[in-house]
Amino acid sequence: MHAPAAEAHVGTAAPLLEVVGGDLEVPVVTGGFRRFVHLDQAASAPALRVVAEAVAAFLPWYSNVHRGAGLPATVSSDALEAARVEVARFVGARDDDMVVFTRNTTDSLNLLARALPDDTVVVTLDLEHHANLLPWRRGSVRHVATPRSVADVPAAFARVIGEVHADNVLVAVTGASNVTGELLPIADIAAVARRHGARVVLDAAQLLARRQLSIGELGVDYVAFSGHKAYAPFGAGALVGRRDWLDRAAPYLAGGGATRNVTLDDVVWADGPARHEGGTPNVVGVVALAAALRALHEAGRDRIAAHDAQLTAHLADRLAHLAPLGVRVLSAFGDADRVGVATITVPASAALVAAALSAEHGIATRDGAFCAHPFMRRLVGVGPDAAVPNALRASVGVGSCGEDIERFAAALEEILLAGPCWTYAEEGGRLVPSPDPRPRPTPWPGGPLG
Ligand code: PMP
Repeated sequence: MHAPAAEAHVGTAAPLLEVVGGDLEVPVVTGGFRRFVHLDQAASAPALRVVAEAVAAFLPWYSNVHRGAGLPATVSSDALEAARVEVARFVGARDDDMVVFTRNTTDSLNLLARALPDDTVVVTLDLEHHANLLPWRRGSVRHVATPRSVADVPAAFARVIGEVHADNVLVAVTGASNVTGELLPIADIAAVARRHGARVVLDAAQLLARRQLSIGELGVDYVAFSGHKAYAPFGAGALVGRRDWLDRAAPYLAGGGATRNVTLDDVVWADGPARHEGGTPNVVGVVALAAALRALHEAGRDRIAAHDAQLTAHLADRLAHLAPLGVRVLSAFGDADRVGVATITVPASAALVAAALSAEHGIATRDGAFCAHPFMRRLVGVGPDAAVPNALRASVGVGSCGEDIERFAAALEEILLAGPCWTYAEEGGRLVPSPDPRPRPTPWPGGPLG
């Protein structure tokens, strides 16, 4: 699963795949335009060019599914089902695994949380994204104290699972941290879980589009992910995995499409994915997701992993050079491989630095606690009563290049040495340039009414 270590030429990576907006020029507050540097791809990645083209080609054929008699309805229904097969193949699903289309990872994990048998205990680490912490609180949860060495994680799980006495245990674990980019040893965790008769759900939000991932080879039971983090930002995600709990559970969305027969007093629910996909599905989003996965497959999963590893090494190298300015790269483990996501603390307001990177340099990063408050508090060494910490995150994708990292490192250095060269004010909880002379496009033709 892990990519080979990047070679010496860390600064030379070119974009691997073409993304929409890859040549975007954004205005900066000091005047003029800069090529946009998108280093917030862990949040949402831009659409691949081929995904946008696939969506445009599909739209004339778009129709509601399954029940319509027109040819576009057949084409749309077939597309939905073909996309299920494509998704299953991409994640190496077992023959009898089920692919349920959802909105995103959060939706997928909430769906699984609602489908757990009553007596299930869920075991998680404290480094998880809120999407992989909060849904489980509907029932019984045990948290594993994350060890300092990533090699000790499977044993830490084994200890806690061994203490749990329940008919069903589910380990819920991320493939890669959305804060530090650190990779978890999923196959080893799954082996431990299997030895104890526990199941595993893999939060693959950050992993899916960065590393090879096979349900069968990893030995996990479920995988959850979002299309918008895999270059298909059209609102579809998926939960893939074992069908027994899902077929026995109450429908996630009661309504049309999820039923076989309805009387005023009774209902016979469908089984299979339809049981949980009530209402009109997001066929366009699903087509986009399938097109993105196909493109990633064709690009070569090894090449994608190597590109990500090269940029990760480049980013780490440049951040290390900024250590004398007080830049500190956060990590849970001393010894984990990483994907192209890095979070730093700086001896300045991270919110101000992020605002200045955007407004003055045309560089998108993210500041905040990244929907991982417990983990962030531990990383910066404060207790649960302390304010939510703020740090700065940079993350790359298949459209990123070495020059993006150089621009980021140079701008960060300038801001840390000389401070921002503009003034900023708080607006709606965020720091924004004040004044902000940057022109911006209308969100749709004509812009908002009124
Ligand atoms: N898990 C991880 C590891 C994530 O990075 C994210 C998104 N930041 C999520 C879950 C939630 O994904 P979404 O917002 O698409 O539901």
